[in-house]
Amino acid sequence: METDKRLDARAAEIVSEMTLEEKTALLQGKDFWHMEGNARFGLPEMMMTDGPHGLRKQAGSSDHMGLGDSVPATCFPTASVSACSFDPELLEEMGAALGEECLREEVGILLGPGVNHKRSPLCGRNFEYFSEDPVLTGKMAAGLIRGIQSTGVGACLKHFAANDQEKMRQIADSVVDERAMREIYLRQFEIAVKEGDPCAVMTSYNRINGVYGSENAELMEHIARSDWDFRGIFITDWGAFNEPVESYRNGLDLEMPGSCRGTAEIVAEAVRSGTLPGETLDRIAARLVSVLLRYRELKTGEPFDTSAHLYLAQRVAEESAVLLKNERNALPLRPGSSVAVLGYGARHPRYQGSGSSRVNCFELDDLWSALSDKDLDCVYAEGFGEDGSATEEQISAAVEAARGRDAVVIVAGLPDSYESEGFDRTSLDMPEGENRLITAVAEINPNVIVLLQCGGPVSMPWLDRVRAVLYAGLAGCQGGKAAAALLTGETVPSGKLAETWPFRNEDAPCDAYYLKTGKCCQYRESIFTGYRYYDSAEKPVQFPFGHGLSYTEFEYGGIALSTERLLRDGKMTASFIVKNTGDCRGKET
Ligand code: BGC
Repeated sequence: METDKRLDARAAEIVSEMTLEEKTALLQGKDFWHMEGNARFGLPEMMMTDGPHGLRKQAGSSDHMGLGDSVPATCFPTASVSACSFDPELLEEMGAALGEECLREEVGILLGPGVNHKRSPLCGRNFEYFSEDPVLTGKMAAGLIRGIQSTGVGACLKHFAANDQEKMRQIADSVVDERAMREIYLRQFEIAVKEGDPCAVMTSYNRINGVYGSENAELMEHIARSDWDFRGIFITDWGAFNEPVESYRNGLDLEMPGSCRGTAEIVAEAVRSGTLPGETLDRIAARLVSVLLRYRELKTGEPFDTSAHLYLAQRVAEESAVLLKNERNALPLRPGSSVAVLGYGARHPRYQGSGSSRVNCFELDDLWSALSDKDLDCVYAEGFGEDGSATEEQISAAVEAARGRDAVVIVAGLPDSYESEGFDRTSLDMPEGENRLITAVAEINPNVIVLLQCGGPVSMPWLDRVRAVLYAGLAGCQGGKAAAALLTGETVPSGKLAETWPFRNEDAPCDAYYLKTGKCCQYRESIFTGYRYYDSAEKPVQFPFGHGLSYTEFEYGGIALSTERLLRDGKMTASFIVKNTGDCRGKET
């Protein structure tokens, strides 16, 4: 706080000495990834870069779809996975590691976490978001932000707000009623701002009730700054900028990336002609200068412990995986047993999503190699290709490999081309080849275990025919070791689903109009999204929000409700005693 006050005071001093042109020069990026500096006042240019679960610092040519190469970094599990740990402290640790990697690479702001609501399981970018529950999302995001910012690096909460589909994301208008807006679509931002105090918030591409995020005074000024006391800067999503004067008048601080149409000159002219008050520009410039002064004080370029970060990535994956089904205790695998490991993903894991969050990882492991260190007799067959399609030969070879084995582990899920930033999924179906393989193998071996690598719910037509399903998700670059530890029982699964898994996307409450009403996105289900709907409508689902099994058993008792704080601050505390009654160590949320 002392540092903040000192730097804010210095920033105000600097701004009072700046010319109009020096101030407006700060309002847009210097280039694709840098904030503009100012040599006269010793303000450094500052780099900001993606993304939520790993550093994506592009070394050469720049793009925001993850196409160009970036410097090597640790790829942690995506938010769709880490949310299942229900553990903000774990995310704080992960955030601190991300911060260290930023410092090493001289990056001042990391563009994450992404906290948009999982309104439909079809959103192509859901893998980058946490949950269908805004409180869980807000708490996890706040943890990550606290961790990143503990290193002095800033975090940028995104995308503000109601950016819940990829289709037409740049021109869509999210039409949301007031109650749903406050309780479902803003609540996670509110928690993350109040409990995480992020350095920046990124506005979304879309309009919100008719007004673009980067011009939205209601969201930026009235709600975030006035109601929540947000003290940081508002940055546009890359290219999410429309009307310069409107934007800066309504709360925006920075247009990213660099402007190709002379924003600085347009704003300077607006100040000269009195269309934009000079005090507004001064306030914006002071906030931007504060960010640069903070960055100037950081000690950058320091090395960090790569192996500790890789180990942390493995721990996050282990603590987040969700055991969806485990009939007859098929898992953990018995020591010394013979196991067929099938599926392209066992050797070539799908461990992250596509788009702006794509990380070039230091080291990538895989399940097949990780299992070779265990006391198991394993054979491998591919079963299907990278795109999930399977020939009859591939299936027959996999069936033969599985015949007579004590257990079969099939790594399946969604190929890269099924989910990404930039487009949405069309259904919850897995590739037909993968479904065929699982069904064929289950016919000749009763002990089939499916390990799922995907960024969100999938439908499982073969669910009744397999013994166990472990949802590993997009588990980051150490997901192989994590999965091996979970399958063999070295680690006991403790993750819980952070979103409902419906049977079909048609069961989702928004499905009748999600992606189906052109540019005007109608949020007609209001607050009845996710479990709020499935519970109220008593709609059967594949797996509910919060579901997750363990290898051990827990007993709950002594439920009590304390109303002590009710009069003081309107809060009640529920408590209960949970006891591990099984015969192995375990963790329960
Ligand atoms: C994405 C942001 C990302 C930015 C920079 C945009 O397309 O929506 O999440 O931070 O690009 O890569």
